[in-house]
Amino acid sequence: MVKETELRHLRRCVELAAEALENGDKPFGSVLVAADGTALAEDRNRVAGGDQTRHPEFALARWAAANMTPEERAGATVYTSGEHCPMCAAAHAWVGLGRIVYASSSEQLMSWLAELRAPEAPVRPLPIQEVAPGIVVEGPVPELAEQVRALHRRFYAPR
Ligand SMILES: [Zn+2]
Repeated sequence: MVKETELRHLRRCVELAAEALENGDKPFGSVLVAADGTALAEDRNRVAGGDQTRHPEFALARWAAANMTPEERAGATVYTSGEHCPMCAAAHAWVGLGRIVYASSSEQLMSWLAELRAPEAPVRPLPIQEVAPGIVVEGPVPELAEQVRALHRRFYAPR
C-alpha cells in the first residue's frame, strides 16, 4: 500500500520529471528516502547531454553506495516517476537498496511511447522484478501516472 505520506515523495518525483522536461531531458525524476521517512537525495533524468545512462535511479543507487551503510540502504525506499529500467533495477539491487515505489509502470510507458511513435529503446523494458526478484515493488498510482503520461506526451509530441 502506498501511504499518503509517501504520495508526497511521489509528487516530488513528478515535479523533478517536469523539471527534466523543461531542460530538454526525458521526464523522469526520483527521490531516495531513509527508513525514517527523511528524503536524502533526489535527481532527474540528464540524458540530453548525450550520455543515455544518466537516469536518476542509477545516480541515486551510486549516491547510496557512496554515502550510506548497507543497513541504511536496505531500509531505504526509492520513489520514482517511472518504474526502473533494467539498468537501474540492477544497480538498485547491486547496492542493496530496499523498496521501490513508482508512479507509472514500464508497461504503461511502453504503451504511451508506442502511441506517440517514439523511437524504440535499445533495452527491453523488463519489469523490476524480472531483473531483481528480491525487491519489494509498489505502483502504479493512477492519478500520478496520468501526470507522467502528460509529460511524455509533451516530450515526444510538443504540439
Ligand atoms: Zn534507468
